[in-house]
Amino acid sequence: MSSQAVEKVVIVGSGPAGWAAAIYAARATLNPLVFEGAITESNRLMGTLPLGQLNLTTEVENYPGFPSGPLREYLAGALPEDRRPFWILDNDKQPAHGVTGPELMELMRQQAVNCGARIITDDITAVDFSQRPFCLTSLENGTVHAQAVIVATGARANYLGLASEEKYKNHGVSACAVCDGALPRFRNKPLVVVGGGDSAVEEATYLSKFASMVYLVHRRDKLRASKVMEQRALANHKITPVWNSHVEECLGTDQQGLIGVRVKSLVNGSTRDIEASGMFVAIGHTPNTHFLAGQLETNAKGYVVWPKSHRTNTSVEGVFAAGDVGDDYYRQAITAAASGCQSALDAERWLSAQGIE
Ligand code: NAP
Repeated sequence: MSSQAVEKVVIVGSGPAGWAAAIYAARATLNPLVFEGAITESNRLMGTLPLGQLNLTTEVENYPGFPSGPLREYLAGALPEDRRPFWILDNDKQPAHGVTGPELMELMRQQAVNCGARIITDDITAVDFSQRPFCLTSLENGTVHAQAVIVATGARANYLGLASEEKYKNHGVSACAVCDGALPRFRNKPLVVVGGGDSAVEEATYLSKFASMVYLVHRRDKLRASKVMEQRALANHKITPVWNSHVEECLGTDQQGLIGVRVKSLVNGSTRDIEASGMFVAIGHTPNTHFLAGQLETNAKGYVVWPKSHRTNTSVEGVFAAGDVGDDYYRQAITAAASGCQSALDAERWLSAQGIE
């Protein structure tokens, strides 16, 4: 990439917000350049690979326009062959469904490509918003300069922070049931899921297809998940809630990896060991803002602040934020996509006001 080229708009991130921004910016003839993230081991471990969190989920039941039904034939035709998820063509046993997270993301990406967005599979590792045009540094493709920037880097899963948890990452500890749940080490074995929100309940329900039993360890005596997902999980005979408890230690050996967890009751302080070949952590998220190095205003939880009501402007003029990187409240695919659209419109109007068409 030439270090001299000045882009009209660079979009950082490749979840629903990034692709919606790319589609709208491309259709506004802004010729957007999208950094979709790098395919690296550290991104895999952190859960920050291209296509974002939706790419780590199963069925998406609440994205408007994708009702349950046999859409596989349409999906097979809509995506280029090299990007078709394998189950579209190969897995006849999959039930008819509306759309999965990975399918939805591939469709959004393809739609952005069809509209003219250019994509670089790389991370932006640093930015300089003090100079204009802005300067962005990538991991492997040098620097790029941009008149406007849309930050749509989303958020990533949190871990408990135990040393023993770190030790068994990739050897039984995971934050993504969909990525890892079907591995042989988890099949027909007891598993633990930590958390009480939609993610935890979704992971537990998904894992119950493989596991002999799923223990849902939650620090309170009721879930914060949506009612429909809660009811489904609590009616599942392969899911056992472990209320008012937290994981104190991950237990294991160098040879076997994780073999269990020690949970502590928050009611009476007693501990007990639960045998488990896997622990899936689903306890919330951290926004992906490290590369910004404090150059945009953030709130107490680290999410980018939108200072203008109903606008995607940030504390730096010409820099816009979209999706979960600024949203610690709704955090839905549809709200992320909507703010991606808004960010492209905001960027277009701002560029136009600067005389950049
Ligand atoms: P969340 O709603 O913030 O829930 C996090 C859970 O982890 C809470 O139950 C919390 O406990 C627990 N927790 C937090 N820190 C903990 C710690 N250090 N130790 C033990 N437990 C801890 O996060 P989420 O489940 O990832 O959901 C995020 C958003 O995505 C939500 O808006 C959700 O609706 C959405 N989502 C939707 C779907 C879907 O519709 N299919 C699927 C997944 C996520 P407390 O309850 O005590 O705070």
